[in-house]
Amino acid sequence: MKTALVIGGSRGIGRKIALRLATDGYDIVATCRKDIAALDPLKSEVGNLGRKFNGLVFDIQDRKAAADALTGFFGESAPDIFVYNAGISRDNLMVFMTPGEWDDVVHTNLDGFYNTIHPLLFQMIARKSGRIIVIASASGQVGQPGQVNYSASKAALIGVVKALAKEVGKKGILVNAVAPGFIETDMTADLPIDKILPMIPLKRAGSPEEVAGVVSFLCGSDSTYIHGQVIAINGGLVI
Ligand code: NDP
Repeated sequence: MKTALVIGGSRGIGRKIALRLATDGYDIVATCRKDIAALDPLKSEVGNLGRKFNGLVFDIQDRKAAADALTGFFGESAPDIFVYNAGISRDNLMVFMTPGEWDDVVHTNLDGFYNTIHPLLFQMIARKSGRIIVIASASGQVGQPGQVNYSASKAALIGVVKALAKEVGKKGILVNAVAPGFIETDMTADLPIDKILPMIPLKRAGSPEEVAGVVSFLCGSDSTYIHGQVIAINGGLVI
C-alpha cells in the first residue's frame, strides 16, 4: 500500500488533503505541532475510508525533533507522497514587525521544509519515485503588504520547488507547488472578508477541498509530466 505524509494535517487545508489522498487509496501519516488528540478526527475519518492512519507530533521548527520523529517512523523507507502543508502567518507592516514575527514565520514556513524533507529525501531518491507537493501561497507569487515575512517565506518555497525539481526529476520524483489564494480556514478566520472579496473575480473564498482536489491531481496519474510548476488556486486573485 502506498503512503502519503501530510506535514500539518490536523486542520484546514492539510486535513482535507489527507482525507482526499485517503479517498484516493493512500495510507496516511499526518503531523501536527503539539497535541496528538488534534489528529483524532482525521484518524477516524481515514479509518472509515478503510485506510491506515498514523499521527506524529513535533514542531517543524525543531530540526532534531522532526528528524527523530520521521526517521523513527519511516526507518529506511519513505512516503510515496510528501505534502508540505504546515505554515503560519504573523501579519504586520514591515516597519512594525518584531524579530519574533519575522523568525517564527520564516523558521516555520521555510526552515520547516528543510527539517521535514531532509530526513526522507535520500530514501525517496534511492527508491526513484515519489511526489513532493509544497503548499505555497498567492502571497509568495505577488507579494502582499502586511505580510513581508509570509510573502518572503512562500516565495522562497516557490524557489525551493523550482530548484529541487531540477535536482530530483531524473530520479523519478515530481516536485510541484500549489499557491492558494483566500481559503476559508482558521488562518483566514479573522481577515476582513468584505475587503478581500472585491479583489477576487469569482467573488468568493475558496474551500480547503478545492485545494485538496488539485493536490490529488498532482499526486495522480494524469499529472506525470507536470514538474517544477506552481499551480494557482485563487479564484482569479492573481492573473
Ligand atoms: P491552519 O492554520 O488551519 O493549519 C495549519 C497547520 O499547520 C496545522 O496542521 C498546524 O498544526 C500546522 N503547523 C503550523 N505550525 C506548525 C509547527 N511549527 N509545527 C508543526 N505543525 C505546524 O492553516 P491553513 O489550513 O489555512 O493553511 C495550510 C497551508 O496553506 C499553510 O502553509 C498556509 O500558509 C497555506 N495557505 C493558506 C491560505 C489560506 O487562505 N488559508 C492561503 C495560501 C496559503 P497544529 O494544528 O498542531 O497547530
